[in-house]
Amino acid sequence: MSRRTLVVFAVVAGFVAGIVPAGVALYLAWDDAVSQQQTYLRILAVTTVKRWERLYESSTTLLAELASAPAPHCSDAHIAKLREAMRNEGYVREIGVFAEGRVSCLSSGATEMPLTVPPPAWQLSEGVGILPVTVLQGIGSGPRITLTYRDHTLAVDQSELLEHMRSIDSDVSLALFHLDSDQPLAVFGDPGVRDLRSRVSETGIFYDGLRFAVSVRSVTYPIVAVVGDPSGPLERRWHENAILLGVLAVLAGTMVAALIVSVAWRRLSPRSEIRYALRKSQITAEYQPVIELSTGRCVGAEALARWHRSDGTVVRPDAFIPFAEDNGLISLITDQMIGRVIEDMGDLLRQRRDFHVAINIAPQQLENDRIVGVLRRVVEESRLEPRQIVLEVTERSLMDGEAARGVIGRLRAAGHAISIDDFGTGYSSLSYLQRFELDNLKIDRLFVEAIGADAATSGVVPHIIDMARTLNLTVIAEGVETEVQACFLRNRGVPYAQGWLFAKPLAPAQFLTYVDSNHSHLYAVEALPR
Ligand code: C2E
Ligand code: CA
Ligand code: CA
Repeated sequence: MSRRTLVVFAVVAGFVAGIVPAGVALYLAWDDAVSQQQTYLRILAVTTVKRWERLYESSTTLLAELASAPAPHCSDAHIAKLREAMRNEGYVREIGVFAEGRVSCLSSGATEMPLTVPPPAWQLSEGVGILPVTVLQGIGSGPRITLTYRDHTLAVDQSELLEHMRSIDSDVSLALFHLDSDQPLAVFGDPGVRDLRSRVSETGIFYDGLRFAVSVRSVTYPIVAVVGDPSGPLERRWHENAILLGVLAVLAGTMVAALIVSVAWRRLSPRSEIRYALRKSQITAEYQPVIELSTGRCVGAEALARWHRSDGTVVRPDAFIPFAEDNGLISLITDQMIGRVIEDMGDLLRQRRDFHVAINIAPQQLENDRIVGVLRRVVEESRLEPRQIVLEVTERSLMDGEAARGVIGRLRAAGHAISIDDFGTGYSSLSYLQRFELDNLKIDRLFVEAIGADAATSGVVPHIIDMARTLNLTVIAEGVETEVQACFLRNRGVPYAQGWLFAKPLAPAQFLTYVDSNHSHLYAVEALPR
């Protein structure tokens, strides 16, 4: 995954992580508010239905008892019985006896009123009817429900049914219906509640953005209670829930986003980028030919690291080798470079035993024997001569004298040649260098550059050459860009050189082609003035 893809991914994921929980939270808040409100209204409806069932059962029992009293009804004795029933049963508001559609007597004894008794509007159980709501309204106070059985009527106050609704301090309204009728048996609160009945769905809920309603049926009688509430309380509940869940969602989203960003951040840190590069084998080698100055022949190459990132860019070693050295990753890079060299140049090295490849190693790698073991294994497995793998170490590497000397000693004992790299830029003095056993000395580009240009620094090159002779080191000049430089070096006995004059660092295939057609450089070097 490239850096750009990763950043885009982190941003999108962070956004989704913030948005999705918020969306889910809103949905859950709504769902929860609906179910809370539904539960609340359902309890009211069920209580109403239960109250109805109890009221109906005691009323019918009482009616049956009164109606079965021996005739004649409306006798003084019978009226006294009606009164007694009124006293004993607190829910009864009036009991009457009627004949041929007219009231014959009432428990109150007032019989002179011309009251008619219409046929029952609804039948609930065997022989029991319910009169239309308006009937007998004139007697007593408050709306009533009047039941009939044979020649008796019994009126109860609606408040008996709706007692539990009184304690509710909201806009809840209720209507109780017979299943076969749109005309309610009892209504509490907003009369508009009666219209909700037909709109409550199969599942017993109704919501239209303005009102919320539920309905509950009695299991024993054909009775249904519909309870409605304006949408306000539902939405209030929703908002309360949403605020709580919203806060949680924002927290969750922030945490997820922070996690993604931190993972992405770590992934984007140079350290993990290099680890990623190693895992994906993004580190490759280019090969810069090493030329024998007397003949122009290519005798070997220096392997130089290149980092090919997923986004197509190529990073030069100066940009990541120092960081890798400081962060304990350099050994892994060297391992990968060694692997590349064997893969790219194994065949060539096996065919041409006089040919070598130089690999750069970092100062820390001279602190212990790891590199010795790695090279031993690789050389054995790939059937190379150890001297075909040359190791370049900088002057800086030699500062930790004892350990470095030991490792260098063992590398040389194994058959590898050691070059001291970037010579002249570091700290080493002649006496210091004498303490190490080395094979080659590479004159830094800085000094080669000055040849023919700056008398002061070009004067240094002969001294370095002399010093190398004293130390018995083979000289390789780096950064040779012009024929003047090449002539100068060759005429002073420098045997080998690298530089753009001969070739830039080349990709493996290009390098192999270069080696095949190296003759042109023979002429070029031959042609140099002596
Ligand atoms: P170096 O070992 O001194 O490598 C020579 C550098 O000079 C290379 O730079 C090469 O491309 C450049 N060069 C060669 N000929 C010329 C020339 O004629 N003119 C100019 N101007 N430059 C020339 P590069 O490839 O960028 O490598 C930079 C440094 O990174 C190397 O300096 C070396 O110290 C380090 N390096 C490269 N690969 C590795 C590696 O695998 N391991 C370690 N530890 N260090 C590495
Ligand atoms: Ca080098
Ligand atoms: Ca160098």
